[in-house]
Amino acid sequence: MLTVAEATAAIFEAIRPFGTESVTLGDAHGRVLRQPVAAERDQPPFDRVMMDGIALAYDEFENGLRSFPVQSTQQAGDPQQTLETGKAIEIMTGAALPDNADLIVPVERIIVNEHGAHIEANYEAKRRQFVHARGSDHRAGTELLRPGTRITPMDVAIVASAGLAQVDVAAEPAISVISTGNELVPAGETIEDHQVRLSNGPAIVAMLATHGYSNARHDHLVDEPEVLEQRIAEHLEHSKVLVLSGGVSMGKADFVPGVLRDLGVEVVFHKISQRPGKPMWFGMGKDGQAVFALPGNPVSTLVCCRQYVVPALKQMSGETRASPEFASLSQAVHFKPKLTNFLPVKTVSNAGGQVLAMPVPTNTSGDFASLTGTEGYVELAMEQTNFDAGTIVPLVRWQ
Ligand code: AMP
Ligand code: MG
Repeated sequence: MLTVAEATAAIFEAIRPFGTESVTLGDAHGRVLRQPVAAERDQPPFDRVMMDGIALAYDEFENGLRSFPVQSTQQAGDPQQTLETGKAIEIMTGAALPDNADLIVPVERIIVNEHGAHIEANYEAKRRQFVHARGSDHRAGTELLRPGTRITPMDVAIVASAGLAQVDVAAEPAISVISTGNELVPAGETIEDHQVRLSNGPAIVAMLATHGYSNARHDHLVDEPEVLEQRIAEHLEHSKVLVLSGGVSMGKADFVPGVLRDLGVEVVFHKISQRPGKPMWFGMGKDGQAVFALPGNPVSTLVCCRQYVVPALKQMSGETRASPEFASLSQAVHFKPKLTNFLPVKTVSNAGGQVLAMPVPTNTSGDFASLTGTEGYVELAMEQTNFDAGTIVPLVRWQ
C-alpha cells in the first residue's frame, strides 16, 4: 500500500501532458497559457495626459504667465499636436501630451472665456504634473504572463493589451466521469427503499468544473462485468481522462479493477494508506489515458477527486502549481489508525491573520451532508496520533 506522497508521485510520473491549441481572446478566460505574453509596446505607449484641462509650457507658467489663448483641442485618440509659444491646448484625459507642453492644469482650476484660459490665483504646479510618462508601467517586450498561468479576467486584459487576438493554451481533454453501482438511481427518477441516490457523478463533474475542466461527461454503469467492459472501452476510446466511482473495494461486485486490467489499463497502484479513500485505484490506458477509480463512499470520492484527480489535471494542463496552504487546528484531534487522515474543516482567520481549521468530523465516509459549509480538509500525518490545538497542518481547499 502506497503512502499519500508515494501515490501522488506515482500519478505525476505516469501522466502525460495535454496537447496545445490556439483559442481566440474571447475564449481564453479560464484556460492555461502555453506561451509567454510579452508587452507589445511601452505602457503607457506615449506620455499620457491624466486630467481633462489645458496643456501648456511649464517655463511660461513659472515665469508668471496665467492666461493663455487656446490654440486648439486635442482629445484621446487624436494625433499629438505641437504647442505654440504662449498658448494652451485644451486637452482631454488619455490624450498624448502635445509637443512642447510639459504641464497639465486641470479644468477645475481654470476659467475659460473669449480671451482664453485663465489659471486661478495661487495655483501651484510642478513640471510634468498629471502626465503618466511613456513606459513608466512597463517597457515593450516585458514578459507579462508566463506559460502555466490560468487566465483570469485580469489576464484577459493583458492578452488584449498585448495585441493578441489568439493565444496558445492547453487543450481541453474529454473527461469521462463514470458512476458504478446497481443501487444508484439518478435524481428525478423513482427510487425504492433499498436503492441509493446517485450523487458522486454530478459532484465530480461539478468539482472538475470549478477547477476549470468543464468537458466532463457523466455515465452510470451497473455492476456487470460485460457491461462495464463494453462501456468503459468506449470511454477509453474517446476520453483522455476517466474518473470512476465505486466498485474498487474487495466486495464480490467490485469489478472495476479487474475490468480495467482486462481492457489493458495498466495498474499503477491500488490502495493508499489514508482515510477516507483507502481503496483508491489508479492506472494508465494503452493510449496514455489516466484512469482514476475512486471508492464509492461519497466523502472518499470527493476527497480523492480533490486530492489526486484535480492536481493531476492541472499538471497535464501545465498549470503552475499553487503554493501549499497551511492552517492551525482550532482543537485537538486524536486519530489512532496508521493512516493519513483527511479531515474536513471549516476555516476562519483570526485577528492575528492566522487561518484556523475547525474540524467537521463526518459520521462515516458516507456522510456527505456534513461537508456542506466546509472549505476543504486538512491532512493529518500518518505517523502521528495526537494533534494538539494549534498544530500547523496542510490545508486543501475544495476550490
Ligand atoms: P462502493 O465503493 O461501490 O462499494 O460504494 C461504497 C458506498 O458508496 C456504497 O454505499 C454505495 O452505495 C455508495 N455509492 C457508490 N457510488 C455512489 C454514487 N455515485 N453516489 C452516491 N453513493 C454512491
Ligand atoms: Mg458499488
